[in-house]
Amino acid sequence: MARLEVVQGDITREAVDAIVNAANSSLRGGGGVDGAIHWAAGPRLKEAGAALAPCLPGDAVATPAFDLDPPIRHVIHTVGPVWKGGTRDEASVLASCYRRSLEVADSLGARSVAFPAISTGVFGYPPEEAARIAVDTVRTVPTRVELIRLVAYDRPTYELLTAALEG
Ligand code: ADP
Repeated sequence: MARLEVVQGDITREAVDAIVNAANSSLRGGGGVDGAIHWAAGPRLKEAGAALAPCLPGDAVATPAFDLDPPIRHVIHTVGPVWKGGTRDEASVLASCYRRSLEVADSLGARSVAFPAISTGVFGYPPEEAARIAVDTVRTVPTRVELIRLVAYDRPTYELLTAALEG
């Protein structure tokens, strides 16, 4: 079973083999964490993403990390659900993002993976429920990944993830 850690910071600065991007289906970059990752990885990330698009909500695909600092070698792009009031199976799509990202990490041989709080920004997922789904899913999916870090950008998200981890 993987060790699970909750931290606060910028995911592009994580010392892990693979970071997960909360992307959109076009895989061409966007705002929020997606913008930060594309900025740090350089323009080749957009080309590599575009070649793999579209990525459907709940699925995940990998590209190289390009100009991101070592040890990051891979970016795993997953597309979270847009929150529609809970009427569109959002919870299972969000869980699928975490599960599929870990499956892709396994296929890459990644031993350490960092996740952002998928869908809790522009996509509007209620952050407390999203934190619970993140923790519950990464805890229960079988994986060869040894270290999973849930990276909160802001303090409230850090506190919700910590509460979910301890709850
Ligand atoms: P989504 O479209 O999936 O909602 P966002 O990027 O808008 O994605 O937000 C997802 C989460 O990522 C939010 O909690 C946001 O605060 C966080 N975030 C933004 N920039 C970074 C970053 N550089 N590192 C880690 N998390 C980040």
